[in-house]
Amino acid sequence: MRESWHDRFAESPDVLKCARRRQTIVPVLDLEIGGDEFITMAGPCSVETEFQLMATANHVRRAGAQILRGGAFKPRSSPYAFQGLGLDGLKMLARAREESGLAIVTEVMSEDDVPMVAEYADILQIGTRNMENYALLEAAARSGRPVLLKRGMVATIADFLRSAQCILDNGNAHVILCERGIRTFETYLRNTLDIAAIPVIQKLSHLPIFADPSHGTGRRDKVGAMARAAVAAGADGLLIEVHNDPDHALSDGAQSLEPTQFAQLMSEIRIIAPAVGRRVA
Ligand code: PEP
Ligand code: MN
Repeated sequence: MRESWHDRFAESPDVLKCARRRQTIVPVLDLEIGGDEFITMAGPCSVETEFQLMATANHVRRAGAQILRGGAFKPRSSPYAFQGLGLDGLKMLARAREESGLAIVTEVMSEDDVPMVAEYADILQIGTRNMENYALLEAAARSGRPVLLKRGMVATIADFLRSAQCILDNGNAHVILCERGIRTFETYLRNTLDIAAIPVIQKLSHLPIFADPSHGTGRRDKVGAMARAAVAAGADGLLIEVHNDPDHALSDGAQSLEPTQFAQLMSEIRIIAPAVGRRVA
């Protein structure tokens, strides 16, 4: 007999769609992530200075983003690269929330830091490199904050859903999945954004699925096209890196949009999203 997808994903029973389970809506401040409204998270890769963060926050809010992103703890490939401002960065994010009204998503890299990051952030981000760090998944789940779980760069969709299962199993139903590109034989761009994973995950799971075309491409000039494709493919939202001065960014400047490019992209999303049944605020 042919194996059904329920057999294939048997290790992740709670993340799967079934007749009893409704689509998961993740409440964050006054937002409903995974509902009718298309949600955009935007901001710099790293929190660098108060000025940089506030300037970028004001730009993305005016363009229509609802959530501000920014890393205070940065998983850098090089030990000599900027590692993030840590607690000072978290405090800047909290001030940016106060001034802009935007919700905050930021990465947590270690289970020891979970209580501190959870005190300042509205959503905890688990990065691609930590998708299978089960101690961290458990600690993040137990914080009670919603978790943005990024797909591991070498994870299959089944691996990805198993990690989401780990968070659900630790008592936290508020998981947002994020496709951020995987490693393939194609090396032209930084990663291969798996757009098809969006409808696949929507078919399999009741959890919201976002796309991150910034890390998915690594190049500013490719972000718009992949963002538009992700919206058209039915993503519940986007994660986009935007910087007030990307050429001087301390991390991921090459893939960060200029504020005007982000505003242009948001105006395109306002046209595409309604065609696939989404409201844009
Ligand atoms: C980030 O969001 O800046 C980041 C490091 O993402 P990823 O874990 O997908 O590389
Ligand atoms: Mn980044």
